Amino acid sequence: MSFDLNSLLRPHIKDLKPYTSARDEYSGKEGIFLDANENPLGSVTIENFNRYPDPYQTSLKAELSKIKEVDPKQVFLGNGSDEAIDLLFRAFCNPGKDNVILLPPTYGMYEVSANINDVEVRKVSLTADFQLQPLKILEAADQISKILFICSPNNPSGNKVKREDIYFLLRNFPGLVVVDEAYIDFSDEPSFTTELKNYPNLLVMQTFSKAWGLASLRLGMAFGSEEIIRILNKIKPPYNISGLTQDTVLHALKDKGKVDLMIKEILAERDFLELELKKLPFVEKIHPSHANFLLVKLPNANQVYEDLIGEKIIVRNRAKVTLCEDCLRISVGTRSENEAFIEALAGIGKK
Ligand SMILES: *Cc1c(COP(=O)(O)O)cnc(C)c1O
Repeated sequence: MSFDLNSLLRPHIKDLKPYTSARDEYSGKEGIFLDANENPLGSVTIENFNRYPDPYQTSLKAELSKIKEVDPKQVFLGNGSDEAIDLLFRAFCNPGKDNVILLPPTYGMYEVSANINDVEVRKVSLTADFQLQPLKILEAADQISKILFICSPNNPSGNKVKREDIYFLLRNFPGLVVVDEAYIDFSDEPSFTTELKNYPNLLVMQTFSKAWGLASLRLGMAFGSEEIIRILNKIKPPYNISGLTQDTVLHALKDKGKVDLMIKEILAERDFLELELKKLPFVEKIHPSHANFLLVKLPNANQVYEDLIGEKIIVRNRAKVTLCEDCLRISVGTRSENEAFIEALAGIGKK
């Protein structure tokens, strides 16, 4: 299937002139900078934050692209993945006209972002075991279906999506195919970033919020063709990634070994949680997980959820979500947190 990015793009974005910052015309680090109305004296804080950060995150992208084995021109950095999602809507979806395809149960931000941008949502449910229905997805799509969001491993179910189905959709879906890999670090599944050269309609999203333990910094990644990335860069707020975030993550990238250790520990804790949950007679189902959480089915999930809150244990209530009826989503905690959770749950179940 031939793919023409220009025909997918909203017409006014094609000719849009982006904001040029005061520093775009001079790339040197040395000089007397009287161009950006910054405070020349320094900051109110001990550390100085008085200068605007690099709008292109050049150093960070250079290091990141080595780890991810993609060209820096194929990397977009957002204030969380949520910013990338919003920018995709703004670049490609004409409000009140175009549509996107969502595959519930899935991550809630896709629909919220669609609603904020006044974009029609067409839903094609996952199967009972949370796999795609590729033919139904194509049936639901038309020439103004601009984006298909696939989440793998999926939130809230935790399973990975069959690769053949994603390939099929990459070959046949008329618009962009976003593969959200927020939980890929917890999975044995290889990333779809290796397929970028084969599929110009592919955009892969990852985040520093989960395995890297940097949720508070807000840094999300999107990997795509140079053309797609150029569009996202053109419409983003110029200084969307703070200097503090850029510097912190640049240093963090050197500690990949620590991330791998944390992932190992979290996976071991996931096994522990699963084992302990299996011992509780009232637990009906523990969905197999490739992520850092478990989707667990149990009777009266709404009540269990409330009772857990009574013990100051907060989980995610998915009981009202189609295909997740009577399910709670439990993030893997530390050993002592997991033990406290199991103990509380066992007590609630006995009542
Ligand atoms: C947590 C999560 C993200 C990450 O969002 P950030 O804005 O980067 O924190 C993205 N997608 C899914 C499916 C998630 O669960």
